[in-house]
Amino acid sequence: MSVSVTCSCGRMLEAADDQAGKTVLCPHCGLVVTVPYDGLIILPIVRPPARSWKAVAALVLGLTSLGLWIFEPVPALILGVGSLLLAAIAIVELRRSGGRLHGQGLALGGITATILGIVLIGPAVERMREVSAMVD
Ligand SMILES: [Zn+2]
Repeated sequence: MSVSVTCSCGRMLEAADDQAGKTVLCPHCGLVVTVPYDGLIILPIVRPPARSWKAVAALVLGLTSLGLWIFEPVPALILGVGSLLLAAIAIVELRRSGGRLHGQGLALGGITATILGIVLIGPAVERMREVSAMVD
């Protein structure tokens, strides 16, 4: 078997199979010609699964928001809303990625932390402040 290759001078050259991928000199014009691989098998590129950075960010924001409720409710609420938005976007992307992206647990963790902050920690801290104001 041989591999056909056309030189830039227009002449058709025949090269042996074992010359595929190598360079030969055109006997007609002397230019260097690269012999192509014949019947080249192209393997699909399989990308490894990746963790969604939005899911990670949703978890980090959710946990930060949860901790912030003890000190400052307004930034805690802002971070919590950011966490919920990122988590929602992350979950949509995870569904659409067909398994390439993962991190749904992280996104759900961010949502859980945010909701815990809003429903439990925020009101509890507020109640403690009211009680301590009454004592003073
Ligand atoms: Zn040539």
